Amino acid sequence: MTGATTYDLRTLLRPSAAALEPYDPAFSPARINLSANENTFGLPEGVRTRVAEALAGAVTNRYPKPLSDELRAEIAAWHGVAPERVIVGNGGDELLFNLFLALGGRGRRLVTCPPTFTVYKLYAELVETEVVEVPRDAETFEVDVDALVAAASEATLTIVCSPNNPTGTLFSPADVRRLCAATPGVVLVDEAYIEFAREGASAEPLLDECPNLAVLRTFSKALCLAGARVGYLIGPEVLVGALAAVRQPYSVNVFSQAAALEVCRARDELAATIEEIRAERERLAAALAGLPGVRVWPSDANFLLVRVPGAHGVREWLRDEFSILVRDLSGAPDTHDCLRISVGTREENDIVIEAMSILIREGDAR
Ligand code: PMP
Repeated sequence: MTGATTYDLRTLLRPSAAALEPYDPAFSPARINLSANENTFGLPEGVRTRVAEALAGAVTNRYPKPLSDELRAEIAAWHGVAPERVIVGNGGDELLFNLFLALGGRGRRLVTCPPTFTVYKLYAELVETEVVEVPRDAETFEVDVDALVAAASEATLTIVCSPNNPTGTLFSPADVRRLCAATPGVVLVDEAYIEFAREGASAEPLLDECPNLAVLRTFSKALCLAGARVGYLIGPEVLVGALAAVRQPYSVNVFSQAAALEVCRARDELAATIEEIRAERERLAAALAGLPGVRVWPSDANFLLVRVPGAHGVREWLRDEFSILVRDLSGAPDTHDCLRISVGTREENDIVIEAMSILIREGDAR
């Protein structure tokens, strides 16, 4: 190449993009992966077969329906809303990203309650949106609702995750109502894990009452389709229209649409597994909390926040000695010494309990 000069291509990058690190789920091959809050049971056999048939029938020489028409209609009927109030995305992540494209930017403000899903802040910063954080209580991880309401009074967008990743904490519908009334902006309740929560936890019944409320859901967790990348948002028609306008037209491919449609139709068949995960969550929580020096927070999700001395080393030890992968959150001050452990099958959880007991016993002996 002629005229090649040594210049730093990074100087061309938008500063907010140059500052980002690529998202790293820190996956490594492991016998038991409890690091990403997936549904480790997988789909029931019958549903799996129907998904496989639907995939086989997918038409691939044509573009997919931009707005996933059939799936959108099925989701709308499920939730009792007009299809115009539903938008399907390439995972909830895409919808969050598009939300910032539509609502974010300089002079605009996001309010969140850390520790929470880190992607909100990441996308906000990418599009140069100011981020105001209202920290959760350091002991209970409950939201300071008064402080949140005060901060939201000047927000363009407020995001509350319920059940919250990584703490498992709920944000009550009564508090959602209060928040919506107090802010001139949009309130997004991220309900990626709501299927694992107790009855009455969802903000969904408030959608008609609160004109600035949107609810985010995903097929990645309870509905067993993390690999297909499908999420959806229900919200005011104007917001859904804006999200439809800023999105990439064909972001949800034909296979993903077909798989999600089958799973959506079969949703009642997943209830037994979800119930089992809830029961396993309580069993795993009790067993881990019974170990000396270990603290476990109550969770309405399919994961547990667990504080254990030397968490970073514990995570490596679980990975290297037992081939168990969990999420290390110990680097962040508000979750110091914490791991996030997804609830697996009974067998997987037994192995985690056994491994943690050995570790704590050996730790005592040292
Ligand atoms: N919200 C929360 C709180 C999550 O934990 C996740 C996944 N980790 C998502 C949204 C996005 O999920 P997906 O893109 O798989 O739908």
